[in-house]
Amino acid sequence: FMAAKSHEGYTIYAPSYDDHSPRRLTLMSELRQAIEKEQLMIYYQPKVSVKSGKIYGVEGLVRWAHPKHGFIAPDEFIPMAERTRVIKHLTLWMLKRAFRDCAEWRRQGLDLVVSVNLSTKDLHDPDLPDVMAGVAAAANIKPSWMMLEITESSIMNDPERAMETIQRLHEMGYKLSIDDFGTGYSSLAYLKKMPLSELKIDKSFVYDLLQSDNDAVIVKATINLAHNLGLQVVAEGVEAGEVLDRLSSYSCDIAQGYWFSKPKPFNDFNLWLQQSPH
Ligand code: C2E
Ligand code: CA
Ligand code: CA
Repeated sequence: FMAAKSHEGYTIYAPSYDDHSPRRLTLMSELRQAIEKEQLMIYYQPKVSVKSGKIYGVEGLVRWAHPKHGFIAPDEFIPMAERTRVIKHLTLWMLKRAFRDCAEWRRQGLDLVVSVNLSTKDLHDPDLPDVMAGVAAAANIKPSWMMLEITESSIMNDPERAMETIQRLHEMGYKLSIDDFGTGYSSLAYLKKMPLSELKIDKSFVYDLLQSDNDAVIVKATINLAHNLGLQVVAEGVEAGEVLDRLSSYSCDIAQGYWFSKPKPFNDFNLWLQQSPH
């Protein structure tokens, strides 16, 4: 059973985690082709400096423009792509596209740090760093212009193995971010050892910041923890100006959320950018 709900003006099917449902099986076989048929899109959402209000960077988020089902949200197809080899192709497609757009922004004199999400499977792929070196060279970008977002749970899934890839990507010059922080179970000993530059507080703690004392305590403590580890902190899911003010009083570095902008396609994002301080 799949409930349709409206989101960003498109019909999106709520995720159902049954891989064997007929819809899932069809989608899974279609996804590989969707990449070749250019049905995937990258949407960009700004990451904004809390202090200056300037745009620090953007996060690229995948969208699937399905000819029959309309826009399908990543929460529906990423988990299933992660259970097959398709994720490898999807990640590569996203990296190529993000590198190309990054190069274009740099040509325009915009020094945005461009973030891409990696999955658990990507971290366990020993070829990924070499493949990325080729793609980055072809696009003429410097790895230091990019941030790779890795979820807390995918790091903690197999920390030793994740560490190897993370170390190599770091040595190549990529910035690394720990995403969805607070939803997994991080070992602080590992966190300290990893060459990360950023920690993203999961949006589930940010929404209710003003209503929930518990969430406020968690957000404040996480910001302090990150700063003590030398990491910049991003709060995601910022939907209101009052939340932004509170985050500012906690010395949060960067905010991301609908308050600033929803994720938009490259061209729409650039139009939005022209009207924003940067
Ligand atoms: P994420 O990396 O935590 O990305 C943030 C999600 O929160 C995005 O959902 C974004 O659209 C949404 N969001 C941003 N601001 C707000 C806000 O103010 N309020 C609310 N309610 N939501 C907000 P999206 O684009 O549907 O992506 C969902 C998840 O799918 C991502 O979570 C990420 O884990 C995964 N994902 C997206 N693109 C990729 C990709 O290219 N590769 C991989 N491996 N995963 C991806
Ligand atoms: Ca992310
Ligand atoms: Ca997140």
